Amino acid sequence: MKKNAQTTLIHAPRKAPQSISTVQPPLFRASTIIFENTDALFNRHWTDAYDYSYGTHGTPTTFTLGDNIAQIEGGEYCLLAPSGLSAINLVNSCFLSQGDEVWVADNIYGPNMEHLRNLETRYGIAVKVYNPLEVETFTPSKKAKLLWLEAAGSVTLEFPDLVGLIKKAQAHHILTALDNTWGAGLAFNAFDFGEEHLSVDITVHALTKYPSGGGDILMGSVVTRDKTLHHKLFRTHAIQGISVSGDDVAQVQRSLASMQLRYQHQSESALTLMKWLKQQTEFVQVLHPADPDCAGHQYWNEICSEGHSAGLVSVIFDAKFSFEDIRHFCDALTLFKLGFSWGGPVSLVMLYNLKDMRVLEHSHLKDGFLVRFCIGLEHPQDLIQDIHYALEHMKKPKNE
Ligand SMILES: *Cc1c(COP(=O)(O)O)cnc(C)c1O
Repeated sequence: MKKNAQTTLIHAPRKAPQSISTVQPPLFRASTIIFENTDALFNRHWTDAYDYSYGTHGTPTTFTLGDNIAQIEGGEYCLLAPSGLSAINLVNSCFLSQGDEVWVADNIYGPNMEHLRNLETRYGIAVKVYNPLEVETFTPSKKAKLLWLEAAGSVTLEFPDLVGLIKKAQAHHILTALDNTWGAGLAFNAFDFGEEHLSVDITVHALTKYPSGGGDILMGSVVTRDKTLHHKLFRTHAIQGISVSGDDVAQVQRSLASMQLRYQHQSESALTLMKWLKQQTEFVQVLHPADPDCAGHQYWNEICSEGHSAGLVSVIFDAKFSFEDIRHFCDALTLFKLGFSWGGPVSLVMLYNLKDMRVLEHSHLKDGFLVRFCIGLEHPQDLIQDIHYALEHMKKPKNE
């Protein structure tokens, strides 16, 4: 039967081959996935991996990236979310109910704490804070359901006693979730700490950082080894309509090939900067887990190795410098750009007032304003020059 041109344009007779061999996997973009017949429709099992029923539940493109992320991190199953924070929230909303208790480190990624405080106010979930360097401060009650871990901690980069904390959580039958963004699955294997196959239950990863590597894509993942946990997460993921763009997934997939090379390069550059920063008199403290002077260094040393310390280094300025001085310093940097996030090609800087960020007392942190450097892919000597110049500029009278 001859069809109208408009119809032919939609139901085009020419179909591209569905499988050829390419360097990158093919990209599927789908809301609708077409069922072959009613049998396929009524026999779909959307809660099973690799069952294709609707775009939000996954396509070959999202499953491919998920499998790769799970493998890099030492896990088995993966779910993707539209941002790292959304992946964190998926874990919180899946495992926390009214009356439960959740434990977070004092140096937890800030927006996770904000989300949990919101749950506390609205749903009566108790949020308890522990010192990541002192397992004794983690004192779960019978209501405790979830322990959040992060290694190294956000902004101040203390490496926690992961092994001690996980053992204690397991003894109390509490789920452990690690924000694995800093280690990216490369610095250590969170699903096998070597010792009696000690493992976290869940990892969350801001793919926005190292896996994307471009500073231009937002995405997150939740990885487990346990089928039951994965199914619970899968259901929550599905009923909340959490999904990611196939185009974004393909971009992250493409960047995975260079992730380890970038991670190593940025780790080494950060080490070079850390050593130089320690020699400058303007700073009373340089924070980097590979530095033996840093709190938690021994824990880093037990499970990570040189070149596996990510591209972050923070400094605390001498208390004689005012906040105005620190702003002056940040504004004078030219290669380091002022912005949140990390893991991209461009080095970033951010300034913080620690006093507003911590609940507990931390004797290992000196007084003064904190600046965090996120090392990009520039040559480290140029980055050192940039900081050197900005320090000189900071010390000049403002109107010069
Ligand atoms: C950036 C980041 C997140 C959140 O990722 P987004 O994709 O920006 O939402 C979570 N945890 C850590 C440690 C991060 O650095």
